[in-house]
Amino acid sequence: MALDAHQEKLNFQAEVKQLLNIVVHSLYSNKEIFLRELIANASDASDKFKFEALSDPALNENDASTQIRINFDKAARTITISDNGIGMSRDEVVTNLGTIAKSGTREFLAQLSGDQKNDAHLIGQFGVGFYSAFIVADKVTVMTRRAGLGSEHGVCWESAGDGEYTVSNVDKATRGTEIILHIKENEDEFLENWRLRSIITKYSDHLNISILMPKYTEDEKATEEWETVNRATALWTLAKNNITDEQYKEFYKYVAHDMEDPLAWTHHRIEGGNIDYSCLIYLPARAPFDLWQRDTHHGLKLYVQRVFIMDKVEQFVPHYLRFVRGVLDTSALPLNISREILQDHQVIPKLRAALVRHVLDLLERLAKDDPAKYADFWKEFGNVLKEGPAEDFANRERIAKLLRFASTHADHGQHVGLADYVARMKAKQNRIYYITAENVNAAKSSPHLEVFRKNDIEVLLLTDKIDEWVVSHLPEFEGKSLQSVAKGDLALDELVTEDADAKEAEERKDQAQQKEFESLLKEIQTILTEQIKEVRLSHRLTTSPACLVRDQDALGPQMERLLKAAGQTVTEAKPILELNPEHAIILKMQGLDQEQLREWTQIIYEQALLAEGSSLPEPAVFVQRINKVWMKMFE
Ligand code: ADP
Ligand code: MG
Repeated sequence: MALDAHQEKLNFQAEVKQLLNIVVHSLYSNKEIFLRELIANASDASDKFKFEALSDPALNENDASTQIRINFDKAARTITISDNGIGMSRDEVVTNLGTIAKSGTREFLAQLSGDQKNDAHLIGQFGVGFYSAFIVADKVTVMTRRAGLGSEHGVCWESAGDGEYTVSNVDKATRGTEIILHIKENEDEFLENWRLRSIITKYSDHLNISILMPKYTEDEKATEEWETVNRATALWTLAKNNITDEQYKEFYKYVAHDMEDPLAWTHHRIEGGNIDYSCLIYLPARAPFDLWQRDTHHGLKLYVQRVFIMDKVEQFVPHYLRFVRGVLDTSALPLNISREILQDHQVIPKLRAALVRHVLDLLERLAKDDPAKYADFWKEFGNVLKEGPAEDFANRERIAKLLRFASTHADHGQHVGLADYVARMKAKQNRIYYITAENVNAAKSSPHLEVFRKNDIEVLLLTDKIDEWVVSHLPEFEGKSLQSVAKGDLALDELVTEDADAKEAEERKDQAQQKEFESLLKEIQTILTEQIKEVRLSHRLTTSPACLVRDQDALGPQMERLLKAAGQTVTEAKPILELNPEHAIILKMQGLDQEQLREWTQIIYEQALLAEGSSLPEPAVFVQRINKVWMKMFE
């Protein structure tokens, strides 16, 4: 018999061992979640079963109904959770319960610090799932059989959670999975009828499946009869005012595999329109660990008339909203739809447009009613939403309103929206100014900001490496064009005085300076002919002697770096050198001899490179030049 049973002893994948260790040691303050996780798995298994049985009725084995049964045995110290869902084959058992399939797991686990509180926090976004059984059990036995296979294809999996497990073949008459938890010595609280019931109703009241427990007599004796403990109506099918915030939150944890509360949600039931659908969409409070992984799927759970069809359906939410979680239930799709057909079913674009609208509504509402919460959202997902203007042309204006940037007119760490900016614009200002830089401090001290600072004109500080790309897809907002302070000629209309005499005086001054510096500009142009496109007098500097600017339609330095990093060949446009005609150094340059002028010009140019965050081709030569000029002071 032992030979027939083909018992194998196997090691958990290294990541599983690590995860098990963390789960057991960091989740002790919230032990009861083990039941939520195991019920969630049983519910998923029943959903999968129902979906597969649609196209293969033989799987029903004379019983198409599904339910979850939970029982305990105080004397034997066990809790049993059984379902008649899809079950697992031997190979599936080994893969599903012995390895972690999520990509990026190793990197994620490497981030964990060993600090239990912090790790408990992080592990929440990862989802502990099945392994949470070991929080309360010192041994877990899984008996399972895949629906459709003969009873001799049952599998028994067993582990003490200490690094290895065994699998063997068993006979199992009914399809589905039975999980037996051998409860740890000091976890007796879970071997109680009322305790289990309260956990079930707390977490799983509105799963779309009945959870049964034995009926108890008034003096707390178990009977042979089973009764449903939860309400078992899919939450999204209920009217909003019949749902409490707690229920919404618990349901979120189920769909999102998250242990923390969601940040916000939106729930709609649209009937009698041209497409009937219900959706319950959540914004997570924190970004999942794999948000930026290319090969992970994000998306909604799809139901057709309450029947679960597919997980992580990406068609309904565009990539820039990939952080949302939730369910979509519709009668507009056929029950037997496959992933392939789903790709180009004609109702998809309509549903997608509707869902995008709901999400953008939700975000707008949050931004308006609860800016602090919106700031939390922005911190976690802002960089995803920034992909919006490029991806979703139709909603560009709405998305633009939701973007947030650091600003010269906001406190450090605070972000402002474009609408705030527009509301604060100067009387004659018709452009939204921004600067791109490596970080806020570099942006704030850039010479390009000098004229803006002097005149108290707000400038947005774009410090993320994709920001320049984002604004390149936003030529304007509410009729105001977006303008880099480091590009173009920047004659600031808002500074032009109305007073005719003053205007004339200014023009005269400009012309006089132009004349005064004409020959110096020519000489500098010759010296830097390889490096720059042009040298000219500046309107933007007040305290710095010089800065580099780009042509209006050229790539900025941030965009250049981004494209290079993406492996693209970038034709580098030469910058324009602008000089401050009021600056003592520039004035002094007029009287220099040839050799000195050459030195000074190089220094001025290289300083301007440094100030815009670019690196110098020959840093050591720059230092030598500075020292040489410096030493002159001692002569
Ligand atoms: P997740 O539910 O996030 O996939 P879990 O750790 O909870 O992760 O479960 C791992 C996998 O084990 C599931 O994806 C599923 O394939 C399988 N599994 C767990 N419990 C059951 C069950 N009751 N019936 C069938 N398969 C199950
Ligand atoms: Mg699970």
